[in-house]
Amino acid sequence: MKANIVTLPGDGIGPEVIDGAIQVMRAVAEKYGHEFTFEEHLLGGCSIDKYGVSLTDETLAACQASDAVLLGAVGGPKWDDPNAKERPEKGLLGLRKGLQAYANIRPVRPNANLLDASPLRPERLEGVDMVVVRELTGGIYFGEPKEKGMVDGKEYSFDTMHYWDWEVDRIVRLAFDIARGRKKHLISIDKANVLEVSRLWRRTVEKVAQDYPDCTYEHLLVDAAAMHLITKPAYFDVAVTGNMFGDIITDEASVLTGSMGNLPSASLGDGTGIYEPIHGSAPDIAGEGIANPIGMILSAAMMLRHSFNLETEAAAVEAAVDGTIGAGVRTLDLNWGKPGSVGTREMAHEIVSRL
Ligand code: NAD
Repeated sequence: MKANIVTLPGDGIGPEVIDGAIQVMRAVAEKYGHEFTFEEHLLGGCSIDKYGVSLTDETLAACQASDAVLLGAVGGPKWDDPNAKERPEKGLLGLRKGLQAYANIRPVRPNANLLDASPLRPERLEGVDMVVVRELTGGIYFGEPKEKGMVDGKEYSFDTMHYWDWEVDRIVRLAFDIARGRKKHLISIDKANVLEVSRLWRRTVEKVAQDYPDCTYEHLLVDAAAMHLITKPAYFDVAVTGNMFGDIITDEASVLTGSMGNLPSASLGDGTGIYEPIHGSAPDIAGEGIANPIGMILSAAMMLRHSFNLETEAAAVEAAVDGTIGAGVRTLDLNWGKPGSVGTREMAHEIVSRL
């Protein structure tokens, strides 16, 4: 097949890890006879530096016209001024909105050879294999109004958490579809004991569930979910939640695998799919060549599967990652700082060599 992929390396370790994913895609193209072209654009802080905005109309148009988007990470201390008019994250949110990518799918499956890298005891990780579905284009990150101001010399600010029933309906439906192909049980995470928005969320889950009589479901408050994720993570199979809760819960879930550097994601919806690791730009290690590229490479595998329907190729990439980890190859984050770790390029090279 032929596919045009827009790459958005972004900031910090983004350009370092995306390199490995492109190498993997090239190796897949060669081995399986596909033609992938890559077109690079700026997003985030690097775009602010060059164009004054974190996402230009041209970049968004290129992404909309492409077959899939591969994204590194955005942000960093250089663009962190709270009073700045333009922030890197604005471009990321604009991209997700512009591509109508409302569903972020994050599989979490600790590798059997990496259990020692997890902060949890190995017996707690037995059987952990979950998919978290996070709503990505609504909720408090997008709600208007958001404001800051001053009254009688006292500073205030507020954001708005807002969901339409149809936004909840479509994400819950997608999560039930995924649950249907797995253990047929969906956990919906909210804060319905406090938030009106969560009560709408619950009512909508209950309505949608009627169309999935072959599946069961339960509601879990987000605070309890955070606790269960580390006390009995294997209990989760498919979970669905709103934008902010999903942001937090998936970072927590990611370290079950040993490092957040391992986790891929797919952001899907009505337009072009976006594939990005769940981690940020990691400014603390940027430029050192030690970042773990696995999350980025597994995101490319998700692209092969979800945007191009190339299941064999996706599984081959995942097997190459498993084989590399199985052979004891570790980046620093998976090695708890011990000697003998490999760098970003070497890790990518090891994975490509096993394809
Ligand atoms: P982060 O995910 O960048 O880093 C958290 C910790 O995990 C750091 O210690 C980092 O070194 C480590 N880490 C992350 N990815 C790694 C990898 N691949 N290999 C090895 N170690 C890795 O989160 P943060 O430090 O809170 O945020 C840094 C910047 O990234 C901020 O500007 C934030 O806004 C931005 N951010 C961007 C995204 C995104 O682009 N999707 C997501 C989260 C945070």
